[in-house]
Amino acid sequence: MIIDGKKIAEELREELKKKIIEFKATYKSVPGLTVILIGEDPASKIYVKNKEKYAKDVGINSEVIKYPDSVDEKTVLDKISNLNKDKKISGILVQLPLPKHINKKKIIDAILPNKDVDGFHPVNVGNLSSGYESKVPCTPLGCYLLLRKVEKDLKGKHAVILGRSNLNGKPMAQLLLKENCTVTITHSKTKDLKNECKRADIIIAAVGQPKLVKGDWVKKGAIVIDVGINKTANGLEGDVDFKEVSKVAKAITPVPGGVGPMTIACLLSNTIECFKTANS
Ligand code: NAP
Repeated sequence: MIIDGKKIAEELREELKKKIIEFKATYKSVPGLTVILIGEDPASKIYVKNKEKYAKDVGINSEVIKYPDSVDEKTVLDKISNLNKDKKISGILVQLPLPKHINKKKIIDAILPNKDVDGFHPVNVGNLSSGYESKVPCTPLGCYLLLRKVEKDLKGKHAVILGRSNLNGKPMAQLLLKENCTVTITHSKTKDLKNECKRADIIIAAVGQPKLVKGDWVKKGAIVIDVGINKTANGLEGDVDFKEVSKVAKAITPVPGGVGPMTIACLLSNTIECFKTANS
């Protein structure tokens, strides 16, 4: 089974649209999302454009604030401070990566946790790892929703996560622990990655290595979620060898059209959650 992330993301956006219509009637207002984009990174520009497009489509008030590469840290921090106080803004996102002279941690820490649509603020990270309510990073949240589409009961399943980034691997592990999975987190120093993968009921690959996960790494009937987006001479490729692995897996996400569309849909969902928190 191929997990159609595009379709599932579309369904999620339809649900969000309905929620926003309800908000309009109840609160006479709609969620607002501000994205700060610094510099000219082509990939970041495309991501931000898509975020803005889909936010508008579902009825979120979306604005993009653009700064040149040379902007100083204080200007960005002052802007975040103003956005934190602005009641019309439910969610704030600063597009990463940032120029070297801007301290990523300072920027993330400056965003009010309740407006942190990316779920990167230490308060949200701490709440997630303590099992409390929190804003959850969009990509792992998207993976989790895709997983739930094919497996309702994750209890006791052995999930092997490839990659330990703050963006993907670590929050993914927390989400799956919350669902009572047995979780193995692997990384570039893991000794026998193939054998770790072979024991998995669920594989989440988030390493940024094209086609790393081969067919003979995967147990028959496993579910495979491919987070990787790698630009190669053959076009976009995931971290999983789709052709080989799709022959043994019970379900697998394609690249593109798997996790990617869910990431943006989850950003919109997080913005709505922030709006709800602000109005509760
Ligand atoms: P990252 O910060 O570079 O982290 C990569 C992780 O993979 C690290 O923990 C690294 O280990 C591990 N790793 C690298 N090579 C490995 C290998 N050969 N074997 C085992 N582990 C290995 O990457 P990221 O930001 O998490 O992104 C991962 C991938 O997801 C990228 O392709 C990125 O483009 C993609 N991505 C997709 C979406 C989406 O919406 N679909 C969103 C975000 C990212 P160490 O910690 O030991 O270095």
